[in-house]
Amino acid sequence: MTTGMIRPDLPLSAVAAIAERAAAAGWSDAIPMAGGEPRFACPPGLLDALHTAHPDSLTKYSPFKGTAELLEAARRKLIEVNHLDVDPDELIVVPGGAQALFSALSILVHGQRRRVVITDPCWEHYPRIAVAAGAEVVRVPTTRDGAHDAIDLDKLDRLVDDTTAAVLLNTPLNPTGSVLRPDELDRIGELCDARGARMVVDEEYETFVYGANRHTTARAVRQSAISLFSLSKSFALTGIRIGYVTADAATIDALKRFGLFTYMYSSSPALVLATAALQTDLSGYLEGVRSEYEEKAANLAKALDAIPGVDCVLPEGGVYVFPRIAGADGKSYADRLLSEQHVLCVPGETAGAMGRGHVRFFIGLDHESAVTAAGRVRAMLDNAEHERR
Ligand code: PMP
Repeated sequence: MTTGMIRPDLPLSAVAAIAERAAAAGWSDAIPMAGGEPRFACPPGLLDALHTAHPDSLTKYSPFKGTAELLEAARRKLIEVNHLDVDPDELIVVPGGAQALFSALSILVHGQRRRVVITDPCWEHYPRIAVAAGAEVVRVPTTRDGAHDAIDLDKLDRLVDDTTAAVLLNTPLNPTGSVLRPDELDRIGELCDARGARMVVDEEYETFVYGANRHTTARAVRQSAISLFSLSKSFALTGIRIGYVTADAATIDALKRFGLFTYMYSSSPALVLATAALQTDLSGYLEGVRSEYEEKAANLAKALDAIPGVDCVLPEGGVYVFPRIAGADGKSYADRLLSEQHVLCVPGETAGAMGRGHVRFFIGLDHESAVTAAGRVRAMLDNAEHERR
């Protein structure tokens, strides 16, 4: 009855569609490596904060920008972890990293500045979030050099003009794990500043950085940047939906007003939990998380790389490995892995044209599941080889 009344361009994400397909099939041996939800525990004792909180702080509206306690805890975290000292009016709490993206792009896209430049590859949600914010999306392909995806500044230079609202970056990058270096952020930020566009950097996976790589916070390099953070991945708190943004005071004020007319407030119990999380021993907890994932990334990359026809580098960061599989497109291999082997993974093409021939696997499972998954990738490729003969 409603056909024709609802906008038609609202497909499910690849991750959601894969999860729904697997759930409908009901396989008892499914290995869930499509989504990137952390499996480790959130900081200990967190839920106690709900019992000791004043009832009003759990059930009434919260302040628009988040509670003073949480803003102060986030400010201290930025100093301690991100080497960035911000004024209180340069910070706002939002309901999650996805909302941070939507809010940031929504306040920037206006008038003749409608273009949002996004890397290819990127998280599959980026172009959709940008379109929802009213943007015209333009992709800038990156160049793979080992595990690093370099952004070609000449190409970017041609795309950032007086119709550009924002360049949206992600470090470490979902899906490849590529980590942006300070000089890269500085040069892209400089280019944006010169054209009146904004550099928006999603730092969702800031904790997950491996080897000699270091996470660089965009705003610590360029004050004009907008840095987006979330508690979802670093603190294994995907369900509480809390993130925060740092930018200059005028941008934060616009984010506050945009929030007022959309989500209005973050959830009050979530703010209590987020405050408790940011008040834990940050360096101890986050380093534990980081080193556990570094080991998992190394083990899975090694197991996959040992399979003939699979080329898997150790990522610079992030929560995925992104191997290249010889001989076919990522989509057909991901489909076969799902239907024949019950391994849930995401076709690289979902991240953009540069992901062609790749498949994305979540690294956060236990060792045994990772070994089993690698064995099933091998079996799938053996079957494909048999069919070719
Ligand atoms: N940014 C990136 C790159 C992501 O992959 C995700 C979730 N997978 C998000 C933002 C949003 O997550 P959340 O809203 O839970 O913070």
